[in-house]
Amino acid sequence: MILSHKIRIYPNNKQKSHIEKSFGVSRFTYNWILEKFNQYQATNTPFYLYELKKEFNAIKKVSFPFVCEVSKYASQEAFIDFKDALRAYYNKTKRHVTLKYKSKKDPHQNYYVGGDLIRVFQKEGIDKDYLKLPKMNALKLSEKIRFNGHIVGVRIIREHNIYYVVVNINTEHHMSSISKPNFSVGIDLGIKHHITLSNGLQIDYPNLSSLINRINFMQRKLSRKNHPRTKDDKTPCSNNYIKQKAKLINLYRRLDNVKRDYEKKVTSILVNHYSDICIEDLSVEHMKHNRFVAKNLQFMSFNKIRTNLEYKCSEYGSNLHIANRLFASSKICSNCGVAKTKLKPSTRIYKCHNCGLSIDRDLNAAINLKNYIGRVTSDIMPLDLDSFIADCKKSNVNVFRIEEGR
Ligand SMILES: [Zn+2]
Repeated sequence: MILSHKIRIYPNNKQKSHIEKSFGVSRFTYNWILEKFNQYQATNTPFYLYELKKEFNAIKKVSFPFVCEVSKYASQEAFIDFKDALRAYYNKTKRHVTLKYKSKKDPHQNYYVGGDLIRVFQKEGIDKDYLKLPKMNALKLSEKIRFNGHIVGVRIIREHNIYYVVVNINTEHHMSSISKPNFSVGIDLGIKHHITLSNGLQIDYPNLSSLINRINFMQRKLSRKNHPRTKDDKTPCSNNYIKQKAKLINLYRRLDNVKRDYEKKVTSILVNHYSDICIEDLSVEHMKHNRFVAKNLQFMSFNKIRTNLEYKCSEYGSNLHIANRLFASSKICSNCGVAKTKLKPSTRIYKCHNCGLSIDRDLNAAINLKNYIGRVTSDIMPLDLDSFIADCKKSNVNVFRIEEGR
């Protein structure tokens, strides 16, 4: 399995200019291919990427000598990137896929270096990893590379003014050998409480309201500074506008980091404690059209929780079960199995007319999802629940027990 580890780097000026040059070469090559592609499309000539690569390599030394100043991967990988873009374009897996020229002004830039040209080493007396890339001095990584294994490749990226390396490592299933108790859990995702577990615990989304208020305030402040307001407006951006924008970008990054940190931690804890996990197959695309829901940050996390669980389960040797989309987890009674035909979204307590069960709505759904797994697993002990809560507290995850009848 290939895992990637994104690590922040602090390149010096010389390294920075080399990295920027590599971004430029990667961008240039990509745009060169796209231009050729558009020409071929206009004249209905068949298009072969392989032939184009040969053509590019034949002329690059004379026509584009700057390409040779950086690693060969910067230009060669652009062909692979274009191939992927082309595949997405024809498959239409995502909607509105267009082939776009890459812009220098895009705050997100990247280039790739293959594993054969990379060396990772340590210096004596310094507890840091160093990464040696072609034609550049070694970069000090701000963290140690987390996984052991063969490095397949590295992508250097810049997000606004911050540089990272994403190290792709081919690892063995190193965690799957750890034996875990045979516990199962159902997870219900919701808006009011982000995660409800069938073991009677609820996890709330981190409280981001102060950060979001600050972002809104800064955004309003930004709009008052001098800057072009329409496409044809020739007003230059003032220095104050640029300064304010940098502050805002930092806040957005923080928001992103808090969200990602939560998603990673909560899924790690779940996978560490349970061998069988069941979640709903939410139709996120469908729900996005709901205006109220679409603005909700917690909701946007649902997909992330699922993708994180998917790869973490295979890494840590747990099984992930995904309930059928038609499985009405919130309408079925978790005690007797009788389903209601209608249940208002505002009803917080589920009351069964058949057996008289009165239970928290989300907990009922979570228990149903646990039962969906169908396999007989051990009952969870209070001691294990305590260790689960302790793990959450350690990671600053907001967890609490559902009180009866609340
Ligand atoms: Zn019932």
